[in-house]
Amino acid sequence: MINVTKPFLPPQEEYKQYIDEIWQRAWLTNNGPLVNELELKLKKYLNLKHLLFLNNGTMALQLAIKALNLTGEIITTPFSYVATTSSIVWQHCKPVFVDIDSKTLNINPQLIEQAITPNTSAILATHVFGNPCDIDAIEAIAKKHNLKTIYDAAHCFGTTYKGESVLNYGDISCISFHATKLFHTIEGGAVATQKPELLEKMAYLRNFGHNGPYEFNGVGINGKNSEFHAAMGLCNLNYIEAILDKRKKDSLRYDKWLADMIFQRPEINPKCNYNYAYYSVIFSSESECVGVLSELNKRNIFSRRYFYPSLSTLNYVPQNKCKMSEDIASRILCLPLYYDLSNTEIDMICRYIKRYFKSRK
Ligand SMILES: *Cc1c(COP(=O)(O)O)cnc(C)c1O
Repeated sequence: MINVTKPFLPPQEEYKQYIDEIWQRAWLTNNGPLVNELELKLKKYLNLKHLLFLNNGTMALQLAIKALNLTGEIITTPFSYVATTSSIVWQHCKPVFVDIDSKTLNINPQLIEQAITPNTSAILATHVFGNPCDIDAIEAIAKKHNLKTIYDAAHCFGTTYKGESVLNYGDISCISFHATKLFHTIEGGAVATQKPELLEKMAYLRNFGHNGPYEFNGVGINGKNSEFHAAMGLCNLNYIEAILDKRKKDSLRYDKWLADMIFQRPEINPKCNYNYAYYSVIFSSESECVGVLSELNKRNIFSRRYFYPSLSTLNYVPQNKCKMSEDIASRILCLPLYYDLSNTEIDMICRYIKRYFKSRK
């Protein structure tokens, strides 16, 4: 069986060494030494000023919205994972969807200004599949209208924009370290910011607002992560170059196999160094997309419709139609891509896809 993704696992021995350490210290969570070590190493590797390790990427989005005191309307993209929108709603703000650019699949900056109202407080955009948005355009609009910016950079581990980590942009960037992501800590995530006052705010928010054992600096939540999760991150970080290289190699192999097919692929931002987080293919119709999916399923290959459905169709958000996002969501598929995927498997997947199109002629 081939799944769309399979988590990278380090040699068990390496994880066990950390587990032994944890047993000796009996310090399991609450900002332990491994959490600190992981934060330092991630900041160094990604060249970030400030980063806080959290229990998941959704918590990162919620802390970001809370730390910026956002209220009213938040302009966001309908083409993302549901957590981007649900975090806005969870924080009692209203998501206002702006449609995507059909080439990059990221929010279309040209449509943002017309969606701004006196109630708009921020823009929350996703760097879809690790491919940066038009950050320069978004930041210029935000500045002009005095809006905050948050980036859902869940897919962005290792992506750089104009030579630095893409997590350095916006007031706050949020990343996920979930097991399905390129770099993972089983469950986990982080917020990154350049602003010390936001770092301080989010550090309180992450830990119930604790300011010492008996004092509280405002309302907080439990956004902490454990030593066990940090240990997985420390192990995986040693393999990150190999993980990134392998994804690139596999993506280029898919490219080569599928070069003679007329599939649309997302256009990568020319100002970035891409991390090849996902291999998505946009078919010409939903029936083609579903056809390929079921053809692969029959052979025990599980590709995934991602992102589907368009978040503009969720039943708990104000309805506003986003034609492009709904169209792309109906016919996009992410093909299997993970560290253990073999060349033979990639070749087989491509042959099945090609065979499917031949049989339809
Ligand atoms: C995975 C993901 C999230 C949520 O991260 P979790 O760590 O699973 O909470 C948010 N946004 C996007 C775009 C994602 O892919």
